[in-house]
Amino acid sequence: MTALFRIFIALVVPVALVIGAFFVAAKPARLPSALLPMLPALPYIFSLTGIALAWRFKRSRSVFLLLLLAAGCWITTSFLPEAPVSALNVKLGYAATCFLLPLNIGVLELLEDRGVLTGWGILHFSAVLAQAVAVLLLMTAGTMLSPESAHAVIDMAQRIVYFRLLPEWADSWTYIPQMALVLSGIMILGLVIHLAVAPTARDAMHGALVTTIVCAMAGLHHVEQPDQAALFFSVGALIVTLTLFQESYSMAFADELTGLPGRRALMADCKKLGRKYAIAMCDIDHFKKFNDTYGHDVGDDVLRMVAGHLSRVTGGGTAYRYGGEEFTVLFPKGTTIEAAPHLDAVRETIARAEFRIRGPLPKKARGKSVVTVTISIGVAERTDEATTPEEVIKVADGLLYQAKKAGRNKVVAG
Ligand code: GH3
Ligand code: MG
Ligand code: MG
Repeated sequence: MTALFRIFIALVVPVALVIGAFFVAAKPARLPSALLPMLPALPYIFSLTGIALAWRFKRSRSVFLLLLLAAGCWITTSFLPEAPVSALNVKLGYAATCFLLPLNIGVLELLEDRGVLTGWGILHFSAVLAQAVAVLLLMTAGTMLSPESAHAVIDMAQRIVYFRLLPEWADSWTYIPQMALVLSGIMILGLVIHLAVAPTARDAMHGALVTTIVCAMAGLHHVEQPDQAALFFSVGALIVTLTLFQESYSMAFADELTGLPGRRALMADCKKLGRKYAIAMCDIDHFKKFNDTYGHDVGDDVLRMVAGHLSRVTGGGTAYRYGGEEFTVLFPKGTTIEAAPHLDAVRETIARAEFRIRGPLPKKARGKSVVTVTISIGVAERTDEATTPEEVIKVADGLLYQAKKAGRNKVVAG
């Protein structure tokens, strides 16, 4: 269920944009007339913006994704309409693009961000460039080979590219070769399945990847209507660029280890508080010893587990990672009396949660593979003495210290 929900979240904005593009493409008059003259440039504007952003955030895969969309757009909207129309080899170059674009986008899913100007990045760039050159050579092949050999080459390529597995109706509505449609379908299905099963694949960029294949294919389909094609490539590049903005936002506000909002988010949210709120400071008990016994990596897993429980705190509280093994829970409309029972409930849930250690046990663990941790909490509210969130946090910190002194695994409310 949660996997389905994650897929939904990752896909909802991109899919809405793609549906919007289909809605407009069906009747271009729906597009604001001021936008129409800009349309041919739009895919490149979005791609360049995204490339600048992706470069800065070291998202090399997004750089390549945007390059692919820009190149696909150029071949579809600029090169093809100006190439000798009747030539079979131009048709073949188009068909090859229909295969290469979804294939290259799909391959990005399997790669890691390894930089653009690194050996790896240059290799990747060369591979993409080589394909683009091959396509352009194919399109201009007639002028370079003798007519007979050009004919032979093209004839063979034609048979490969336009091989049909399904009946004709499957592709009779489009210039895209049937097997390219099948390939992009497989890519989309594979990416969605990956999105569902791989925990690392559930971020927004993976959702974007799925929808950019749809945009690229829709753009290629509109090869005879460059405006519509540009529209689809624009939306593809826009999705990637928006996702990059979203990522940069979460890079600034989310804590990487736990996924909770971090201290910067807490400080931003504190600025929005009214005259009634409560802040709880939570700290894992004897965590230094835990790290010493089980190692830092297991400690990190426990931090994630604790963060997960805290994020589900009831009573309208929001959990943040304050730093290290300390967390803050903010009740923007609550008092300490209202917040305390909810905090005590999480404290108890965490104290009862058994954490099973996978992998070889360190010696110091003395064979104990199921462990528990506890947390101590101090909670304070805005008063006439503590009027700012910083002051309330200080009071809560003092109460947390009292909870520790009183034996830990406790909530002390001010
Ligand atoms: P107390 O019950 O008094 O809070 O004892 P404590 O050992 O938890 O207190 P202290 O603040 O001295 O120790 C905090 C420890 O938390 C130190 C460090 O090893 C651990 N820690 C802080 N941040 C991280 C982290 O990101 N990952 C891991 N694994 N450990 C962390
Ligand atoms: Mg501490
Ligand atoms: Mg501690």
